[in-house]
Amino acid sequence: MSPPTRRDDLAAGIGAVRRRIDAACSAAARAPGEITLVVVTKTYPADDVLLLAELGELNPGENRHPEGARKAAACAEALARSGGPQLSWHFVGALQTNKAAPVAGYASWVHSVDRVRLVRALDKGASNAERTIDCLVQVSLDPPGAGEGRSGARPDEVRRVAEALADAGSLRLRGVMGVAPLDADPAPAFARLQQVAARMREDHPAADVISAGMSADLEQAVAAGATHLRVGRAILGERPPLG
Ligand SMILES: *Cc1c(COP(=O)(O)O)cnc(C)c1O
Repeated sequence: MSPPTRRDDLAAGIGAVRRRIDAACSAAARAPGEITLVVVTKTYPADDVLLLAELGELNPGENRHPEGARKAAACAEALARSGGPQLSWHFVGALQTNKAAPVAGYASWVHSVDRVRLVRALDKGASNAERTIDCLVQVSLDPPGAGEGRSGARPDEVRRVAEALADAGSLRLRGVMGVAPLDADPAPAFARLQQVAARMREDHPAADVISAGMSADLEQAVAAGATHLRVGRAILGERPPLG
């Protein structure tokens, strides 16, 4: 027998994660079809994204510019040549205002919108690129009083960011995103996110997306109503530590 290829490894990773999602959905009396799997490909090469596309995973996630832009361009070219399917790129990382325009050039989704200034910059970039981008308000799930390093809007800021997205001509407000705090039980954090999402839907009924859950906590996220999971390591393998 020949040794497993990278494609075999990725197929096995996807299979394992899909089985976890199925089990979590059954435990929560939800349908797996309600869940979109975003495969976070940061630090991994464009060739992996292309293998994932062959395996039917068409929602790659990236957290840094220009890494994401480079991969999106390489994949678009390869898929155009091979007649492959189009990808929907999800930008999931902290985003500086001055990088909003280039990200708006390729991302179909931005999960990490956490301030009004970023809304304006993304809207301008999307409008110039003649694109419309689906956006989520990233909500800080850190305990109140956590240091300033945290990403995400505080619960009291969420409404303003949501209003700005709803008013932006080239952006669509689709819901909320959260990252569970490190070294703490994710379940209460995801429950808070679910409450913020419910409050947002009172004003914006179409904003029904909850992006939550990563390799370590996707079960808790499914239990708390997540519609989008962002999974990297469990499919692609452990990433080298950030240099
Ligand atoms: C890297 C990353 C993920 C994926 O994390 P894994 O632990 O590799 O599954 C999800 N969300 C964001 C915002 C990330 O930066």
